Amino acid sequence: MARDLKEIKDINEIKDLGWDELIPGAALFSFTEPVEDVAEVPMEERPYAPTNSHEWQVGDWRVEKPVYNRDLCIDCQFCWVFCPDMSILSRDKKMIGVIYEHCKGCGICVEVCPTNPKSLLMFPEHMDNDEALSMWPKKEEKDK
Ligand code: SF4
Ligand code: SF4
Repeated sequence: MARDLKEIKDINEIKDLGWDELIPGAALFSFTEPVEDVAEVPMEERPYAPTNSHEWQVGDWRVEKPVYNRDLCIDCQFCWVFCPDMSILSRDKKMIGVIYEHCKGCGICVEVCPTNPKSLLMFPEHMDNDEALSMWPKKEEKDK
């Protein structure tokens, strides 16, 4: 049965609730306290709430994984902004890579990557990343 979040007094109670026990549309807490300029605070220093996706490891949901190609990336940060699971690691506005423990393999980062060819592509989970990089497609020419 759905729980009204207003009834919950201890934030840790939320972590034990199943997705079907929350009221549809409920907003979950990101942090246990207000954080200013969160983009400037390193991930390991942020006060993540138990309901933040950073506290959950969903990597074993994946059947495909995003592989990152540094040579093509323009550090636009689109993947970092759109990833729903905080799985893109970025420092000083430079993309570093994918945190696979938190990546569920949804492919949104690949969809939003604007380079040609893309700097993130989905490959089978079992494939070695170096092998994936060796198979990267070439630039697509536009029809004139
Ligand atoms: S596949 Fe989905 S969860 Fe994984 S890094 Fe890309 S956007 Fe994030
Ligand atoms: S969206 Fe693509 S180009 Fe932009 S930072 Fe991510 S990997 Fe790099």
